[in-house]
Amino acid sequence: MAQGVPPPPSVPAGPAKMIATANSFTPVSAQPTPKGRKSKHALRKAAAAAAAASHANGQQSQTSSKNNTPRPSSTPQGGRDERVPPSSASGGIPDPSPLYLARAFAPPATLADPRRILVILDLNGTLLFRPTRKQPTQFVERPHARRFLAYCLDSFHLAVWSSARPENVQHMLAQLLTSEQRQRCVVIWGRDRFGLSQDDYDSRVQCYKRLSAMWNHPDVRASHPHASRGGRWDQSNTVLVDDSPEKGRSEPHNILPIPEFSGLENEQVDVLPQVHDYLNTLCYQADISRYMHQNPFTLDPNYQLRPPPSQEA
Ligand SMILES: [Mg+2]
Repeated sequence: MAQGVPPPPSVPAGPAKMIATANSFTPVSAQPTPKGRKSKHALRKAAAAAAAASHANGQQSQTSSKNNTPRPSSTPQGGRDERVPPSSASGGIPDPSPLYLARAFAPPATLADPRRILVILDLNGTLLFRPTRKQPTQFVERPHARRFLAYCLDSFHLAVWSSARPENVQHMLAQLLTSEQRQRCVVIWGRDRFGLSQDDYDSRVQCYKRLSAMWNHPDVRASHPHASRGGRWDQSNTVLVDDSPEKGRSEPHNILPIPEFSGLENEQVDVLPQVHDYLNTLCYQADISRYMHQNPFTLDPNYQLRPPPSQEA
């Protein structure tokens, strides 16, 4: 861990203790915070963006799979070209299967006891960002990123999936996780895990995180705690945290979309602590896709971190 980071929190050993820490996420004091008063308008805008992204994603799930009209989802950044849709050789643009939707649209149910779910985290724009392409190994961390990652590792099954090239994934993780923490991840996947053609791999294409690809991978299957008894990861127990809702297009009710992190000056409200609380809620759900279909993640513009229970009066 880097200097200045406080000692590890009293992270629960398992899901049974998770709820005790919900909404008690403590900030990492080493992280600089934006100066100046946050305007309420800006906060509302950030919350509305998260809600709109979630809603739009839900709408996409109900569109016909016949409509595969390319729809670039990103605006040019820093003069870069817009993303282009992947070629058919790379699988094209996916849509959710009727079976997936039928299952996700059923009523949710709550479990008596929480369970360890599979959390898949994006990197760039979610946990950190790279200010300049000229310095490819320099990143700015989203507030609370390391503490959030440590919590995920201790409380869930954690996988990392980024559309960055594998070497850049390693650079990003070298800043965020120790080697011991990296070894505890279920898998760490980069751009080579999207089934892209060579042309698409080398182009600025829209990547799609088909969760079925992860669910069906032998290493991921083996990581399920009840794999030997037929237990497996699927839409009932998996969540993808990503700043790009489009990436979760094939399983739109398993993606937790968050605003893109583009620098401390643009971070209007604590995001990762709110994700932390929502993940804890998902641990009590019999089917995550059903719950998220009816209760998509929304950002609270008035969110305030509470001190850990030990520091409360
Ligand atoms: Mg991203």
